[in-house]
Amino acid sequence: MTRFTKITASIGPNCEDKDTLKRMIEAGVNMCRLNFSHDTGDVQGAKIDLIRAVSKELNIPVGIIVDIQGPKHRIGIFETENHYPLKVGQKFILDSDPTPGNETRVQLPDADVMKSLNIGDRVLLNDGKIELRVDAVFDDKIETTVVRGDEIWSRRGFNLPDTDINTDILTAKDRGDLEYAITKNPDYVAISFVQRAEDIANVRDFINERTSHPVKIIAKIERPNAVERIVDIATAADAIMIARGDLAVELPFEQVPAVSRHIIRECRKLNRPVIMATQMLSSMVHSEFPTRAEISDVANAAYLRADSTMTSEETTIGDNPVNVIETMNKILSYSDKDTIENPYDWSRIDNVPENDWSRSVSSMAYLNKAVAIVVFARDTDTAVQISCRRPDIPIVAVCGDERVANQLSLVRGVFPLIDSSLFGQRLAFESVRQFGIGFGKLVIVDDDKISLRTLD
Ligand code: PEP
Repeated sequence: MTRFTKITASIGPNCEDKDTLKRMIEAGVNMCRLNFSHDTGDVQGAKIDLIRAVSKELNIPVGIIVDIQGPKHRIGIFETENHYPLKVGQKFILDSDPTPGNETRVQLPDADVMKSLNIGDRVLLNDGKIELRVDAVFDDKIETTVVRGDEIWSRRGFNLPDTDINTDILTAKDRGDLEYAITKNPDYVAISFVQRAEDIANVRDFINERTSHPVKIIAKIERPNAVERIVDIATAADAIMIARGDLAVELPFEQVPAVSRHIIRECRKLNRPVIMATQMLSSMVHSEFPTRAEISDVANAAYLRADSTMTSEETTIGDNPVNVIETMNKILSYSDKDTIENPYDWSRIDNVPENDWSRSVSSMAYLNKAVAIVVFARDTDTAVQISCRRPDIPIVAVCGDERVANQLSLVRGVFPLIDSSLFGQRLAFESVRQFGIGFGKLVIVDDDKISLRTLD
């Protein structure tokens, strides 16, 4: 079965040994995500080396995403280890005083955050279980009223859905992590809590000042202001991740499916691959089988023509990460075949300019009933652009360079093949058979030349 939707697996304690990684890649993993919110430095470096070694051993391209924590905000500590109840209607103060907190106040350690808050803004604590409303703003404290109550304790994270936070996209920790990570030549760097296109430009400058390796940048969309600015952000970035975990805290959760659909559409217009992330098969942390709702969620990502789905805890700390990948592979492989009434198929113009050459490639393939599109991929752009028109046949990308093959592992319907000699042998199309492509016509794309060949 040919699977078009790619699988990104988060790698953690339960799947970072060689045998499990190998079995997961054989079961269908295309991309590995290393989350620098947890391990950092050489511990992550060793995992990158291992993934590269396994990928080479199996001769299967695998892309690596280094996921940088970003400015995740946390309150300070409390006087005791106890949980402190916050009741609806009570006043609560967030201030710059590092003295341990109590039921009336706690420190808000980040001065930039304090300065960014305005009267009426919501402060969501502990994954949104507590909602505070800002009543008054002073230089060194914020007075709030509790609108939704629950228990709070030391170092809980908080979200500010109404606030444009005027803070550097990279914290001191992120700078150290990124400085290290780029020495390992990752294929993608994912940036958390992006708010504006300048965040991406700043990260790109940081990377370009330190390496000439063409690392691509994924903007994680998890804030309402990033959704509003999706066109500018996706234009500045190389790819997008719909980070539904934080997104469903910062937005009313019922809006997340519609917002996800909107983001996928915008990404396709802008030729940007897009990952649907978080809680896709969560129940499989302990269960052998997914829930019916999870099966539908994964299938819907395929129907929406996302580039990749993603696993989180189900692979990092799950009981059986290989089973998770086999399950995801099964659902996607079946769902990818369903193109009936798919509003995203190649023939929909979707605001792509009339003379867009990648649309011509898709049209040519469709009108000639081609069995595959073959792209000589000196870089990722050509294959990404054709993929974003979502042709219903495989795009075989002949890559002279491992890096290009790894980066294309994220892209929907693209089957990368590493073989530099193929650049000189235009007729070496036999190799496309390894992807299960049968006899028939091929559309060949080599730089700006588009031609038709018959595979017999
Ligand atoms: C998310 O919030 O959905 C996400 C993928 O980000 P993280 O796992 O870094 O919180």
